[in-house]
Amino acid sequence: MIIAATWESGGLGQAGREVLGAAVRLGAALGDDVAFAALGMAAVDAAAEAGGCGAARAFALEGDYAASGAEGAIASLAELARELEARAVLLAADEQGGEIGPRLAERLSGTAVTHATSVEVADGRLLWTRPVFGGKAFAAVTAHVEPVVATLRRGAFSSAEAMGGAAAVETRQVPVTDGAVELIGSEEPQSGVALEDAAVIVAGGGGLGSGEAFAELEELAGLLGGAVGASLVAVDSGWAAPERQVGLTGKVVSPDLYFAIGISGASQHLAGIGGAKAVVAVNTDPDAPIFNTAKLGVVMDWKKFVPVLIEELRRAAP
Ligand SMILES: Cc1cc2nc3c(=O)[nH]c(=O)nc-3n(C[C@H](O)[C@H](O)[C@H](O)COP(=O)(O)OP(=O)(O)OC[C@H]3O[C@@H](n4cnc5c(N)ncnc54)[C@H](O)[C@@H]3O)c2cc1C
Repeated sequence: MIIAATWESGGLGQAGREVLGAAVRLGAALGDDVAFAALGMAAVDAAAEAGGCGAARAFALEGDYAASGAEGAIASLAELARELEARAVLLAADEQGGEIGPRLAERLSGTAVTHATSVEVADGRLLWTRPVFGGKAFAAVTAHVEPVVATLRRGAFSSAEAMGGAAAVETRQVPVTDGAVELIGSEEPQSGVALEDAAVIVAGGGGLGSGEAFAELEELAGLLGGAVGASLVAVDSGWAAPERQVGLTGKVVSPDLYFAIGISGASQHLAGIGGAKAVVAVNTDPDAPIFNTAKLGVVMDWKKFVPVLIEELRRAAP
């Protein structure tokens, strides 16, 4: 059995579709069935939808995640993986997947493969591709010890499609934890388009110089139907929220269009944008490394570029 698992709050989200799509193709290559596990407070709808997209079994792992935190998810997925004798558990390489993936692999005495960008079956073994050296190279890896718990890079796997059919949703309650970890607070995530799902990202860096400048990027992103991203320098300076950070220690994104505004192009930032289809860089320094990655480079002060683009987009808007 291949298990695909994601956090859902309603119907099947984009992360769930990608992970399930990967699981369905992997299951077909191995001749294995696929189970989908939706974690979250209202996971039943997503699980039911997964049943129509190739999952032979669908589970809603519901519970008080505010109380149980990651531990509740790890315990319930570990139990499910053992019960179904899973060869692989696939998660999205997002904050939650990144937090529980390696711990789940350890709990199952299996192997963790993080940030996978593809998987194929070679001589009956699972061959994963994942970025190494901050995205400068890709390594093909296989696990000697299964099950594999893999986190899949967002945007690298095509989504599961509706195939008809249905699976009865089996609802289970996540266990309450042993209290080893206590959740002492939580914050609502920023509203708007999630970075991982955005087709357009307008990202700002140290060259912006202030938090107010980010308000202009917000406006530009709004006109383009996109989201605002940031470099570590911008986050450390308090100009952008931490969940906006793109890069090695931030989010890995794969938009169609990525604006890097006042961003130098350090390798740790580039590690997050390898999946972008086109990068447009705006930087006053013609030798900034970002221009080596950019499809379109604008050597200019952002203060001259951004307001003009906003004005033109406003004019073009219906
Ligand atoms: C372990 C580790 C992990 C890291 N993880 C990340 C990560 O996840 N994400 C990340 O981003 N970084 C990360 N970093 C930091 C990274 O090395 C760089 O320091 C950071 O990316 C630099 O951010 P920046 O390019 O925005 O700022 P700067 O290096 O300050 O560059 C600012 C750029 O703006 C340009 N500029 C200045 N004024 C203007 C203007 N008026 N108009 C236009 N351009 C202008 C400058 O020419 C310069 O190129 C990490 C570092 C380490 C060691």
